[in-house]
Amino acid sequence: MADIRPERVVILGVPIDNLTLDEALAQVATFLQQSQPHQVVTVNPEFVMEAQHNPEFQRVLLQADLATPDGFGVLLAARWQGTPLRGRVTGVELTRRIAELAAQKGYRLFLLGAAPGVAQQAAAVLIAQSPGLVIAGCFAGSPAPRHEPFLRQIIAAVRPDVLLVAYGHPAQDLWIARNQPFLRIPVAIGVGGVFDYLAGRAPLAPGWIRRMGLEWLYRLCHQPQRWRRILVAVPCFTWAVLRAHRVRQ
Ligand code: UDP
Repeated sequence: MADIRPERVVILGVPIDNLTLDEALAQVATFLQQSQPHQVVTVNPEFVMEAQHNPEFQRVLLQADLATPDGFGVLLAARWQGTPLRGRVTGVELTRRIAELAAQKGYRLFLLGAAPGVAQQAAAVLIAQSPGLVIAGCFAGSPAPRHEPFLRQIIAAVRPDVLLVAYGHPAQDLWIARNQPFLRIPVAIGVGGVFDYLAGRAPLAPGWIRRMGLEWLYRLCHQPQRWRRILVAVPCFTWAVLRAHRVRQ
């Protein structure tokens, strides 16, 4: 199958593939047919802001094989700078579609991360939605580097086709970049809070709120402890994008 990635849109130095959900899934399907390892990152405004002061994370984002547009803010920023993105690809939707594809084609998933027991709950939800799905393993573990040799052993032992890592950014994406050279899994994706959403541990904003771009407000109401992160994702990101645009003019 041919590589279908079209041009990339760059926001504050972070590249994002201009793909719809269907196209992102087709790209993942292509990766799964190739023998080499791939890394997928799901870029939202917080990723872009973190990359501004974390060169290691920025390098991982630059080198990722697929960078999906996750987050209404990146769509708005892309439109504002005159390089509109064609659609939003959220981590939850991409995970569900990958699970569907895996059930059809016999690919096996490994769910790493989140609080103990959450990955198992998320796996049960994915199996219920995609009967026949094979879960190679679930493990909470820890993103701490000293745990890596053990985690590599348990993951390598079951040889999954897709590794979903839920340690939050940038830890999950750095973890994948450090460990993919040893694991060589066809597709590894940092999925942030996806297991929490699938397991029903964190509420997912209704579709109409997401379409209006008010997911941040919904999160602020339901998870007020995230206020600092929302500050980075909304006003700080907006200001940085506007300032960069003004400098360019
Ligand atoms: N997490 C974890 N171990 C850690 C830190 C975080 O398993 O040391 C998990 C946490 O339980 C949650 C996910 O990582 O399931 C982070 O979700 P969040 O929505 O914060 O992701 P982000 O928005 O940073 O991508």
